[in-house]
Amino acid sequence: MFETLHQRRYLIPFNAARLPQQFTDVLVIGGGVAGLRSAIAAADAGVDVLLLTKDTIGESNTWYAQGGIAAVLQPLDSYQSHVDDTEKAGAGLCDDEAVNIVIKEGPERVLELLTWGAKFDKKEGNPHDLAFTMEGGHSFARIVHAFGDATGKELAQTLINTVRGRERIRISEKSFAIDLISDGGGERDRCLGAIAVIDGQTQIIWAKRTILASGGAGQLYRESTNPKIATADGHAMAFRAGATLRDMEMVQFHPTTLYVAGASRALITEAVRGEGALLVDRHGHRFMPAYHESAELAPRDVVSRAIIEQIRKTHFTHVYLDVRHLPGGQFRERFPQLAKLLDEFDIDSSKDLIPIHPAAHYMIGGVDVDPMGRSSLAGLYAVGEASCSGLHGANRLGSNSLLEGLAFGARAGLDAAQAAQSEAVHFPLKLEHKIPASTKTELDITDVKSSLRSLMWRNVGIERAGAHLEETREIIAFWTRYVMDKTFLPATLGEAATAGWEIQNMLTVCALISTAAHARTESRGVHFRTDYPRRDDAHWRMHLLWQRPLETPIPQPIAAPL
Ligand SMILES: Cc1cc2nc3c(=O)[nH]c(=O)nc-3n(C[C@H](O)[C@H](O)[C@H](O)COP(=O)(O)OP(=O)(O)OC[C@H]3O[C@@H](n4cnc5c(N)ncnc54)[C@H](O)[C@@H]3O)c2cc1C
Repeated sequence: MFETLHQRRYLIPFNAARLPQQFTDVLVIGGGVAGLRSAIAAADAGVDVLLLTKDTIGESNTWYAQGGIAAVLQPLDSYQSHVDDTEKAGAGLCDDEAVNIVIKEGPERVLELLTWGAKFDKKEGNPHDLAFTMEGGHSFARIVHAFGDATGKELAQTLINTVRGRERIRISEKSFAIDLISDGGGERDRCLGAIAVIDGQTQIIWAKRTILASGGAGQLYRESTNPKIATADGHAMAFRAGATLRDMEMVQFHPTTLYVAGASRALITEAVRGEGALLVDRHGHRFMPAYHESAELAPRDVVSRAIIEQIRKTHFTHVYLDVRHLPGGQFRERFPQLAKLLDEFDIDSSKDLIPIHPAAHYMIGGVDVDPMGRSSLAGLYAVGEASCSGLHGANRLGSNSLLEGLAFGARAGLDAAQAAQSEAVHFPLKLEHKIPASTKTELDITDVKSSLRSLMWRNVGIERAGAHLEETREIIAFWTRYVMDKTFLPATLGEAATAGWEIQNMLTVCALISTAAHARTESRGVHFRTDYPRRDDAHWRMHLLWQRPLETPIPQPIAAPL
């Protein structure tokens, strides 16, 4: 079905000998929490690092994170409690080792941020003088935050400043990585760096080790909390290079994004519900207690589905958050960014209800990695949202992903540096790749992009059904025939080529997500099938692994008991 997609190993033809070439010990693709933390760890271990970001370094999911970072930093809290909360949300698919790594190493990673200058919100008398808040799915108030609801910005800025202070790290912004380079010289393939456009010029970056930290996939959906950069480039690049991907059907939807016609879907952090906000429908009826015992603080998948159901029942377009019982001043002080956003739309939270709707938020599936962040492709690591470490299982617990980026970033950076120091790598400097010219009509990329995002939202969103998933795969396969056979050359198209590579990456990952969602005939965590509404541990307590070509999944049963 996806022949054109399978045929593409690289998105552009190249002859390495004719292109400018750079060499580095460790190449990091991505400048969010995971990439920045990896780069610091690698540089501190004594190697040279080149870090690429496709936009400016501040444009990442990390920058926009609001609620905070979960970490066990108080004597009355416990690792076991955080582990239990994570695994409960993960619905039987968490990897015990990954969970233990992140939860035990996470606190040290958070505290070291304080020494690097992070200004988290304070409460004197608390452990480390930090203020902690509660979030849905957590059984303890363990969420550290900054400037109320601007945690991501403070975290990113702290890491960026730290990276800028490391002489061994070079940052190259507005540099688009098109593909990972792999070659085995007749033996097993290994990753040897990437082909990228830097300063408007196509270049080969040869790297002894490559860390993919390219973030998420929110832009695959019409309704999304993610910024424009989140087009799943890393997932697609890794797939083309032959790495194994895992749990691709698992996409998390955030229950509460601001729903105002014409405005972008700004996220309203879970912490607002943690501070007592209620969910009500158009009739002012508080509906969550009827869906779950934890009401508004139920896991995200439960709240998202309950909202969709209530929208259906009330024949309306959205529901509301009610924070009118919180004193206006207190709300503004705790959630300054959100209060500012509401001001823009003349919504007074002390008097008005806040219109909300769910949106695609977090990509749980990704490049399958081991406890050091190593992928199945030698020389390639993956961290953060581009990876699938197994921490989140079938559903991510709020505020666990920044923590994962810190913990796995530090591990992968160190391991990559040590490997780069200990092993000589041969670079095939004359590597060449040719692509035949397309004979088919061109489709309008903007049209395909917007139709694809709508299709994914309708058929591969919060609720999925077999027939619709099959139809979705056919439609995507049709588009791939006309889009995947094209080559978008920077020499002729300039910056416009980026849009071509992004849609090719989006189509690749949409094919993966819809195929995986079709294959899993049960409901678990964030994956809800209306035709298979129950969780089926007897047959489905397993991961689905995917490798090019995208034919049938490789099942990976989970050995650990429930
Ligand atoms: C609105 C919002 C709120 C959130 N709130 C929280 C929260 O409170 N707590 C929490 O734990 N998590 C939260 N999350 C999730 C969390 O922010 C992300 O999962 C996390 O930041 C991902 O980090 P990352 O380093 O993997 O990717 P990102 O931070 O997204 O960084 C990706 C990087 O990769 C680069 N890149 C991508 N493609 C290419 C390419 N082709 N070439 C070169 N560079 C490329 C980008 O330029 C960018 O620098 C939130 C997410 C959003 C969107």
